[in-house]
Amino acid sequence: MAKYWQEDMETMSPEDMKKLQSERLVKQVHHVYENVPYYRDLMDKKGVKPEDIRSVDDLHKLPFLSKADLREAYPFGLLAKPLSDCVRIHSTSGTTGKRVVAFYTQHDVDLWEDCCARAITAAGGNEDDVCQIAYGYGLFTGGMGLHGGSHKAGCLTLPMSSGNTERQIQFMRDLGATILCCTPSYAAYIGETLHDMGLTPDDIKLKAGIFGAEPWTEEMRRSIEKSLGIKAYDIFGLTEISGPGVAFECEEQSGMHINEDHFIPEIIDPETGEVLPEGSVGELVFTSITKEAFPLLRYRTRDLCVLSRKKCSCGRTLIKMAKPMGRSDDMMIIRGVNVFPSQIETVLIEQGYSPNYLIEVDRKNNTDTLDISVEMNPDQFSDKMKDVQDKEKALAGAIKTMLGINPKVHLVSPKSIARSEGKAVRVIDRRKLHD
Ligand code: ADP
Ligand code: ZN
Repeated sequence: MAKYWQEDMETMSPEDMKKLQSERLVKQVHHVYENVPYYRDLMDKKGVKPEDIRSVDDLHKLPFLSKADLREAYPFGLLAKPLSDCVRIHSTSGTTGKRVVAFYTQHDVDLWEDCCARAITAAGGNEDDVCQIAYGYGLFTGGMGLHGGSHKAGCLTLPMSSGNTERQIQFMRDLGATILCCTPSYAAYIGETLHDMGLTPDDIKLKAGIFGAEPWTEEMRRSIEKSLGIKAYDIFGLTEISGPGVAFECEEQSGMHINEDHFIPEIIDPETGEVLPEGSVGELVFTSITKEAFPLLRYRTRDLCVLSRKKCSCGRTLIKMAKPMGRSDDMMIIRGVNVFPSQIETVLIEQGYSPNYLIEVDRKNNTDTLDISVEMNPDQFSDKMKDVQDKEKALAGAIKTMLGINPKVHLVSPKSIARSEGKAVRVIDRRKLHD
């Protein structure tokens, strides 16, 4: 069985990779400078000419692009090919504001699907597998990206899209799906529904899941692996850079390999823009060196994470990124303390609660309030007030130890918090409404 989808690229020596990246970067910078007036202006303003970029070591000289640039240039301002050469458009999910669009030539679709095929192969997928795609299809890149990757990898592809969870499970059983691709929050929901239907992991053939498009914790991973009886792999991507498959996890499950023959990563200080050394936490920046239609250079993702070149037991030499802690704009400042939703999720699952929760932040009498509603599992459910209050107190204490601030915890009855079939909405910050 093939272990890699594109072995030459996935196991290339770091020296050869740097050479390849440099060649591709030089070509890409010329392509963008000549065809994208918006970026040419940015380079001119910074006093950088394409000739100044001779290798990846010169990357830091280029100006950054941000989501604000994409919104300003919307819809065609960053297009580097005539529309007649493009075959596809996708759009971001709009999680953090106005959607932006990205364009693809056939070459761009091909390389993106290859990246997804690398992810499927790394999760053990091949022509003997039935791959159920339960990411949403449409403008969102999740469905179409993994769909294309599954075809390339030769899997029998089940294009379910998201939703209709009981039918997902019925097809999963009837057709013997072995790999499930969806968001981690939807995977958790599918696991819960399987249980509610009186079934166990022994009733399905799933062996692996490829879950991404939103942040999820290690605790969530273990909980999904148990409920579905699978090994759960992380996958990362963003529409602006192509879609899922920018980075993917291997059997080691300790960070995702970045497809750096296509996308050069950097970690920068989000305040100063300075490039940080390997191992520092900072904002992830990508330069796309092979895409034709929508080739973003030094695009600031706002995702916070760490890169590592530590040797991986899978044999891939591609650099790894740690699970993103969330986006810089997911971080809440509550009573002066930085809080990521993922920190709260870690405590909840560690304490045996379900991953169904809602965080509400508000401001009352000039003080920030933090309310966390958490579902009890059916076996935790109690109608005795005192029991529930004791549990709420204990959980609030554990969260205070993690965050340093005291939340108000509300334990709610099983199934009272809406489930997600795509990207989960777990935070409501009402302070923004008062501003
Ligand atoms: P939007 O930015 O509107 O959500 P996308 O659907 O393109 O649009 O989402 C890309 C973003 O999703 C990434 O920038 C990142 O914040 C998040 N994301 C994708 N995959 C993962 C993952 N495996 N872990 C954490 N976050 C992820
Ligand atoms: Zn690996």
